[in-house]
This record gives sequence, structure tokens and C-alpha cells, in this order.
Amino acid sequence: MMTFEGLGLDARLIQATDALGYKVPTPIQEQAIPVLLSGTKDLVGLAQTGTGKTAAFSLPLLQLIKAENRFPQALIVCPTRELCMQIVSEIELFKKFMPGLHVVAVYGGASIGMQIRDLKRGVQIVVATPGRLIDLIERKAINLEQISYVVLDEADEMLNMGFQDDIEFILQNTPKRESTWLFSATMPPEIRRVSRKYMKDPMEITVGKVNTANRNIDHQFYMTAAHHRYETLKRIIDFHPGIYGIVFTRTKVDAQSIAEKLTREGYDIDALHGDLTQQQRDKVMGEFREKTLQLLIATDVAARGIDVVGITHVINYELPDDVEIYTHRSGRTGRAGLTGICLSIIHSRETGKLKQIERMVQAPFHRLEIPGGKDVCRKQFFHFMEKLLQADISHGDYATYVPMLKEKFAEVDKEEVLKRVAALEFDRFLKYYENAEDLNIRERPREFRADTPPRGRDGREPVPAARSFRDTRGREFNGKGDYLKLFVNLGTKDGFYKASFLQFILDMSDLKKEVLGRIDMKEMNSWIEVDRKSAGQMIRSLDGKNYKGRRIRMNEATGR
Ligand code: AMP
Repeated sequence: MMTFEGLGLDARLIQATDALGYKVPTPIQEQAIPVLLSGTKDLVGLAQTGTGKTAAFSLPLLQLIKAENRFPQALIVCPTRELCMQIVSEIELFKKFMPGLHVVAVYGGASIGMQIRDLKRGVQIVVATPGRLIDLIERKAINLEQISYVVLDEADEMLNMGFQDDIEFILQNTPKRESTWLFSATMPPEIRRVSRKYMKDPMEITVGKVNTANRNIDHQFYMTAAHHRYETLKRIIDFHPGIYGIVFTRTKVDAQSIAEKLTREGYDIDALHGDLTQQQRDKVMGEFREKTLQLLIATDVAARGIDVVGITHVINYELPDDVEIYTHRSGRTGRAGLTGICLSIIHSRETGKLKQIERMVQAPFHRLEIPGGKDVCRKQFFHFMEKLLQADISHGDYATYVPMLKEKFAEVDKEEVLKRVAALEFDRFLKYYENAEDLNIRERPREFRADTPPRGRDGREPVPAARSFRDTRGREFNGKGDYLKLFVNLGTKDGFYKASFLQFILDMSDLKKEVLGRIDMKEMNSWIEVDRKSAGQMIRSLDGKNYKGRRIRMNEATGR
């Protein structure tokens, strides 16, 4: 069996890995450390987080750096503040027995003055996010002249986040760079290009399959209408009483508004997104780590680099625009040998994207039924009863109360006590789920599919979709030009913003977004341009239906 000694590491580093309880090197450490210790090799490491890659580059760096030289010799660039801090805290542990070696983290959102002071203390290793590093270079607060080693960690993510120019600038401004070590979970063409342009004959190491998600992760999905996403999320949370996870949204606005709604409804959650101050982010992350918060509602950028062991679920409130982001999201769970679940809430038009992701992660996705109200109640009930049975009664002076309790409950049998306890705990909950609707999208019989307009009640041929039809008030209209402008009595007052409104009307009508032209939303009403061939289907699907107890009115717009 390979050992850390066998890889050529210094005794002081072995002492540190022993102290950390690392028994054997992980595969990437086994492959990378001897190569990196040779000092002049460029290397591309294709590995996901959780493989031990931080130690794979940090241990050799610590050995190669000259402690007597009090200037930056190694630069580690990574996408986020969280990852930056995480790398520094790991390095602090690895260098525990190496006095005179100093490492500093520089990242955006924190006081630059403090970081400049830290840099002046004579550090040898700088761990930085790209934006802040450029800022420091421009202020001449950091000198990259003497940098020998550059590590690009989570390079694909840095490119995803738009740091390509910054990365190239950094590589161009490290004239004494001897070695460049690039780590990435995936290998998109831009990374290949960067490696060709800035690296000399890099050795390539792959751990596991590239683009393959962790095998400890079970990928599941629920299919619902887009306007039922929030309700579905709530069902999922309620159905998993012990859940500890991250819900990913595409936008900051979504993260914030979902977090606010869930908080109002009594859930232990908070939002993590780029609009928060550093202090707020620290507070949220602290509470999440301590498990005071059960869930984080986060955007991709804000959650990047989070390494919290024990996350049971990652939930994609929406699938990411870029399928590769899926790997980064799902990688937050199933870490350190534990198993995890990555759940996605999708609507029917996203099955294509799901297939793409399935191919990418090379693991099957399982469709699950969105639990019904009764299922949720049963699950919560058993969870509560389990907690009741497990309650620790060894402390406290409960015995003294027993005679009093016996007297009080003399007339009430055990079954009734249990019922009363359950009623106290569940009353509100049972009421909420009493008439809960089925949120699943069910396959419809063929004759009702969107592409085959339903037959009339008298069995005659279907009404042609748009050329001429009647709305529910019996008015006939004919399409002119490419688009017909439709009026609908729904607007921002109904809680819609443009994207959610668009999703709602497309979901209701089972049409694709290509049929839509301009959308003009006002507080109470909206005007939508719809391809004339599809306008009939849209009106038939929405006009006369209910939205939050209000009757929807949709018809051809007049005079606008
Ligand atoms: P990383 O891929 O660098 O994010 O590392 C994932 C986790 O594995 C970290 O919490 C490390 O502390 C841990 N780790 C790294 N190397 C080893 C090892 N050889 N043995 C046990 N745990 C390790």
C-alpha cells in the first residue's frame, strides 16, 4: 500500500498528515505528489472536489518553497472566497510543523487594507480569487516577479464565472513561473487552450472519469409545472424531515424571495447570494455549518467552493443553464465517502436538458413521484414519533413529576395521550396538507396532447388552431401578421415577474417559447405577442381558468 513517505514528502509534512489522520494518499495525491515534487513539471489534474486535490498540490508546494525567502513564491488562484479560505485553512494544518512559512488569503468582499498589510508581513504562499488579485496587482500591493509556482484550482469554474481574461493576465504577469499546475473537474476547450498557451508539455492526471459525477450521489428528479416549483420544493422539504442541504436557484432574486417565503412559513433556512455583505455571508455560512440552518438557498456563484461535510441533499430548484454547472452543484453532497442525493425539480420541456446532464454525469436519473399530502403527513408523523421514542430522559428530574402525571392522566389511556401529542404537533400541518393537490405532471392520453387539439364535444374535427376560433365569450377573431397581440388580466400584482409569467403561460398552454413575441407586463394586465398559429391554443388554455382564485381573462388585444 502506498504511503505518504513513499511519495517523497518531508518528515514534517508526514507528521502533519498523521496528525490529520490521513492514513493513505488518495489516488490524485499518489499520482500528483511525486511529479510535483520534481519541481519543474507542468500538470493538468482532472479531478473533482472531494478527491483530496487540495493536499495533492499543497503538500508539494510547502516542500518546494524556501521559508528563508520572505516574498511570494507560490500563487494559488481559485474561484471563490469560500474556497480560498478553505485552501488556506488546509495549508495552515499541513504547515503546522514548518515554522517560518506563511500563507495569506486575498479575496473580494473583504477589507483590501487588511489584506495589503498581511501581504507585507512577508508571506510565501498567496491564495487568491482572480478579481481581488488583479486589484492588488494594479495597486502594486503584490509583486508577482518572484512567483515560481502557479496553481489554478477549479479552473473550469473560474472560466465559467468569466475570469478567463484575469487568469491569462495573471499567467502573463508571472515571468519567473517555473511550474503551472491546473486542476479542473471538467475539460472544456477553453481550458485546453489555456493549457496549450501557458504550459509546457503538461502531464495529465485523471482521477475517476472526467465529467463524471461522484458515484455516491443518487440523481433524482420530480416533474411538475413551472408555477408549482415552490410548492414542490416545500413538499420535498416536508417529506425529508432530517434534510440538510443546499437549494440552488439561477438568480439572486429567486434565492432571496424563496428564502423569505420559506422563513415566513417557519423553516430554518437562509439565502446565500452575491448581494449579501461579507458579514451577512459569514453569518449565514456559520449558522449552516452549525446546522442551525437546515437549508441554504443559494446561487451558483455564492455556493461555489462550499465544503460542508454531511450535506444530505442538493436540490436544483431549476436546472442550471449550463449543464456543466450541474456537476459542481451535485458535488456539494456525497463527499468524504458519504452518500448524497441530488434532486432536480423540472418541467416537461426540460427532459432534453436532463438527458444531456445524464449523459454528462454518466449516471441514471430516477424520476420520483412528488409526494402527496398524506405521504408527507405520514412521514412527518413517524419522524416525530421516532424523536419522541429517542428523547433523552436520563437527565432532568422527570421522575419527580411521574406521580403527578399519573394522577393527571388517570382517566386518559395511553392511546389517547399519544393522539393528543400528535394533535398538538400536527394540527397545523395536517390542515395545510388536507386538500393538497397532486403536483406531478401526468402523461396525458394521446387525444389530449398539446399537438393534437381536442375534438369538439359533438365529435367533429378539431377546431383549427388559429386561423379562426372563438374565445370563451364566443367572440371570433382572425390572425393578421406573424403575431397576434393578446390581452390577459394578470400582471406583476399577481406576483409574476417576466420570466415566471412566461413560464406560467407556456406551461398552461403547453406551447414552446418560440411562439412568443414581445411581452408587455403592467401591474394588473399584460399584453403578449403570440405566433398567430398558436394564439388559439393559448387562449383556449388560459381564458376562463383560475389563478389563485381569480378567473383569468385572455382575448385578442384591441386598440394597443
Ligand atoms: P478536497 O478534494 O481537497 O476538497 O478534499 C476533500 C476532503 O478530503 C478534505 O476534507 C480533506 O481534508 C480530505 N482528505 C484529503 N486527503 C486525504 C487523505 N489522504 N486521507 C483522508 N482524507 C483526506
